[in-house]
Amino acid sequence: MPEPASMLHRTLALALLFAPTIADAQLCEGQSAAIAPDGRAFGHLPYGDAPESELVTLPSYYSVGNPCVVRADILPDLLRLFAAAQGDPSVMGQLRALSCQRSIARQRGVFCRGETSSPADRAISVAPPGYSEHSTGYALDFAVRPANGCPDAEACMAATPAARWLRANAPRFGFEQSFPGGNKQHVKWEPWHWRWVGASGSAPGAAKARFVFARARRLYPADPGVLPLVVKVTVQPPVPVAPVVAVPSKKKRR
Ligand SMILES: [Zn+2]
Repeated sequence: MPEPASMLHRTLALALLFAPTIADAQLCEGQSAAIAPDGRAFGHLPYGDAPESELVTLPSYYSVGNPCVVRADILPDLLRLFAAAQGDPSVMGQLRALSCQRSIARQRGVFCRGETSSPADRAISVAPPGYSEHSTGYALDFAVRPANGCPDAEACMAATPAARWLRANAPRFGFEQSFPGGNKQHVKWEPWHWRWVGASGSAPGAAKARFVFARARRLYPADPGVLPLVVKVTVQPPVPVAPVVAVPSKKKRR
């Protein structure tokens, strides 16, 4: 007869063997999604809502459609980015904010609207509620005006001069492209979607934003991304210490 301790081990081993490796999350009425061990639902990482007290509205001149609401911390860089884009003739058009902060409740409304398709299909183009960078207030979608035949939030945007300008310049304003082509997260390539992490870790608010996106940045780096600040430490070679040699005392001359 096995000892109680070994029975306990065997029971635990069996429990682990049959334990589900994934959990389920309720996304829409009567529809749930499998949550991967790293917390992702249909490829998207989980995010919470931004506190209302930290949200501000972008001047309407810079947005199309709904008012663009973002975290107050990203506003100075976002305004500087718009101003730089406007002053650069290579942009050939005007960058605008298309969609900014969306609460989890609103995301649920967007995601759960299309009952005819499966949640997995919808998740290719819309993040499930609770799994969108937009809820944090640090992410936004850009649009180009005039659209010149390329609909908003379509891959054709990547070929526009404005999108090329974003790739070359957005990181210096602290923005990085969350979902580059072929990302290992298996989220659709979104050249219009950028998140703010601050141009340097010491920029006001950057530490908080970097904390929010820490897992995403570690597991699925943005491209182009805001590079981590490299602090060069010059290491001085050790100063050789002269060995102490016993000097024989001089003999007194006579
Ligand atoms: Zn987006």
